[in-house]
Amino acid sequence: MSQVLYVPRRLLEETRAHLDREVPKEGVGLWAGRREVERVIPLPNAHPEPRVGYLAEPVALLRALREMEKEGLTLLAIYHSHPKGPAFPSPTDIREARWRVPYVIFGTDGVRAFLLPEGREIPVVLLP
Ligand SMILES: [Zn+2]
Repeated sequence: MSQVLYVPRRLLEETRAHLDREVPKEGVGLWAGRREVERVIPLPNAHPEPRVGYLAEPVALLRALREMEKEGLTLLAIYHSHPKGPAFPSPTDIREARWRVPYVIFGTDGVRAFLLPEGREIPVVLLP
């Protein structure tokens, strides 16, 4: 497991564009790649209250993971947004964390990544 997330600037912007389209809802998706992020995969937010929570729609999630595998890409991170909050895990984010990849959070104050539930921060390094 990589301890740093390397993301090309244009893919960070692509992710932000996806999350902007979801406002006022939280947005969710995956970052896939080998060493660095190579693909941004937006997923539908199936949470019953999508303004305050996120749930990657399970069928789309499964399809995305399968396609990734077919292309030889690894799941590097799962991202979601806090349209009105900080880039910091909420109590729900921590409680519901299941993945061993970093959780990237886009908040009003920037982008940060954490391993959850333990809360260790993973640096997000922008590539030109
Ligand atoms: Zn959250």
